[in-house]
Amino acid sequence: MLNTLRKIVQEVNSAKDLKAALGIIVLRVKEAMGSQVCSVYLLDPETNRFVLMATEGLNKRSIGKVSMAPNEGLVGLVGTREEPLNLENAADHPRYRYFAETGEERYASFLGAPIIHHRRVVGVLVIQQKERRQFDEGEEAFLVTMSAQLAGVIAHAEATGSIRGLGRQGKGIQEAKFVGVPGSPGAAVGTAVVMLPPADLDVVPDKHITDIDAELALFKTAIEGVRADMRALSAKLATQLRPEERALFDVYLMMLDDASLGSEITNVIKTGQWAQGALRQVVTDHVNRFDLMDDEYLRERASDVKDLGRRLLAYLQEERQQNLVYPEKTILVSEELTPAMLGEVPEGTLVGLVSVLGSGNSHVAILARAMGIPTVMGLVDLPYAKVDGIEVIVDGTRGEVYTNPSDVLRKQFAEVVEEEKQLALGLDTLRDLPCVTLDGHRMPLWVNTGLLADVARAQKRGAEGVGLYRTEVPFMINQRFPSEKEQLAIYREQLAAFHPQPVTMRSLDIGGDKSLSYFPIKEDNPFLGWRGIRVTLDHPEIFLVQTRAMLKASEGLNNLRILLPMISGTHELEEALHLIHRAWGEVRDEGTDVPMPPIGVMIEIPAAVYQTKELARQVDFLSVGSNDLTQYLLAVDRNNPRVADLYDYLHPAVLQALQTVVRDAHAEGKPVSICGEMAGDPAAAVLLMAMGFDSLSMNATNLPKVKWMLRQINLSKAKDLLAELMTIDNPQVIHSSLQLALKNLGLSKINPAGGQQSPLKP
Ligand code: PEP
Ligand code: MG
Repeated sequence: MLNTLRKIVQEVNSAKDLKAALGIIVLRVKEAMGSQVCSVYLLDPETNRFVLMATEGLNKRSIGKVSMAPNEGLVGLVGTREEPLNLENAADHPRYRYFAETGEERYASFLGAPIIHHRRVVGVLVIQQKERRQFDEGEEAFLVTMSAQLAGVIAHAEATGSIRGLGRQGKGIQEAKFVGVPGSPGAAVGTAVVMLPPADLDVVPDKHITDIDAELALFKTAIEGVRADMRALSAKLATQLRPEERALFDVYLMMLDDASLGSEITNVIKTGQWAQGALRQVVTDHVNRFDLMDDEYLRERASDVKDLGRRLLAYLQEERQQNLVYPEKTILVSEELTPAMLGEVPEGTLVGLVSVLGSGNSHVAILARAMGIPTVMGLVDLPYAKVDGIEVIVDGTRGEVYTNPSDVLRKQFAEVVEEEKQLALGLDTLRDLPCVTLDGHRMPLWVNTGLLADVARAQKRGAEGVGLYRTEVPFMINQRFPSEKEQLAIYREQLAAFHPQPVTMRSLDIGGDKSLSYFPIKEDNPFLGWRGIRVTLDHPEIFLVQTRAMLKASEGLNNLRILLPMISGTHELEEALHLIHRAWGEVRDEGTDVPMPPIGVMIEIPAAVYQTKELARQVDFLSVGSNDLTQYLLAVDRNNPRVADLYDYLHPAVLQALQTVVRDAHAEGKPVSICGEMAGDPAAAVLLMAMGFDSLSMNATNLPKVKWMLRQINLSKAKDLLAELMTIDNPQVIHSSLQLALKNLGLSKINPAGGQQSPLKP
């Protein structure tokens, strides 16, 4: 059964549009289940009716015509109950409704399963049989599994249809909306540029070209390149392979011939498809055909074609690389955005980001927030490979993306973009004002940095120091581990730029979703695996080189602080302290005169929360990493869009943990800061200040917003609010109570011009 299922899903996945996908579904399911009818009804959100969209067995002329409301017929019942319905004789059921045009009076038994995507019913899959009989448990399980598998495929095919401007009934749809999760707030209107990971055939988009000859020439060069590679490889392995094994290379060469794959691809290019798209189409067709074969030997051939496809693609992409054009307002779209990708877009042209994978807590989203670029993450239903070159609106605040926007929508968003620009300008006036509450409490606001550009941004916004310098960012942008000398230069730049303000440098924190291309870590559970301090303690050479570079970079400046990530107990801290002391001794022996810098520990693992006192005793300061602390306390992967709505730093458990950390750190007489993203949320910052955090460290973009908020409030009022919220056990109620309280204080909307009129002003 699994095999049948896999084959059907595979076939449906490669269908060119929704109509073709549904056609394959009904045909294959009917065959697999040996039934006489298989039909798919999809819920049309506009009319709220289940419309017959494809059938094998019923009258095909009724497709698109027969429909029923959720309170009508058996299909409506399956859709509203969200449960399968298995009937020996459908006509006996009180909800049975007869549709003459389908010719279904001939079928007695009925089995229907709802098609549910992201908790939403999108349709109903039905099989019917002439004779009266109850479908058995196995058949029911098959249909339920089938419809669960198909839900995503249908949603995806549907979205692809809307991108192409075709609705379910073939109606033209100008605009399509896709919902993901907010990555970085703000709006952007621009042109999508799809950035592909290197040589991944599955994600190559369709693209229309006009210069067919140029494209054919590109393809020819690629073929010649692969041919030459094959011959070279064959010659190289001549002594190690038997002649029959070497024959494989001849097969490859033959496939590239004009009469074979080569000519099929050329034909598709001649229809106006770019070479990469033509290659994907032809290779996918062949691979699917081979994959469906029962003969294992023939199935294996699929991997040969795939391999050949990848090789050709690598050549085509190499030739294309230089030609990638970034429009003036580029919205970068990728299956999985990486920090390195952000660096490839020329300065000043990047206005928005869209990632199919990842969530608002992924590191790339954190970088996007630091850069102030509106971003939507986890847009799993976006057929991203098809949006290259089309106009797109990114609503990073709501986590929504619109493709092919109408004039009205475009205008609306252009106004929002302008308003946001004005707001930022207004906030700039706060730069030189201190962050002090109405009742005189001084709250130091620090900044998180990583990219070089963060330095200028931070200074422009009046940061008072660096609370977190993510040293892994320069490592991620590099092609190899930077040497001690290279690191020294990078760190010196940070320290000098902020001097005499403190700069908190975190030791290399890789693993999880932060990988280095030159030091790959492949794990089933990367967030529970080899991350942060665990990696660097296992590789003391990396840790020592980095610490030495930091210490040397601080010579004469003395504003360095060192922060240790992912500490889960005192044993790790002691080992790290030992290495730091060793590095300090070494650099001093080499003649660099630097004092021992203050050392701090990040509290980002629940175990560390309960050991705050023990940890605090051995260090100079603490800094809470609320991003990871939230993920580990709530057991919600910060990178997974499916559970993004469960990730909540205002969850009562998180708030309690934060209070515990502040209380215990202060009991040991040590200052405690917070550098997770919640510190940059103006509403959350009110609570953090009330808890007693000694400083807040955030991205430069949000710093003026937090400053504006804290300057409008009394510490005593904030403490009352915190006390009230700490009695609430429901995260949703905490959110709404916090919003309501701020609204009552006239602080629901950041407004630098109007803020001074706050009712709180004494
Ligand atoms: C955190 O976990 O809160 C933190 C600041 O570190 P990062 O986001 O880099 O993991
Ligand atoms: Mg962290």
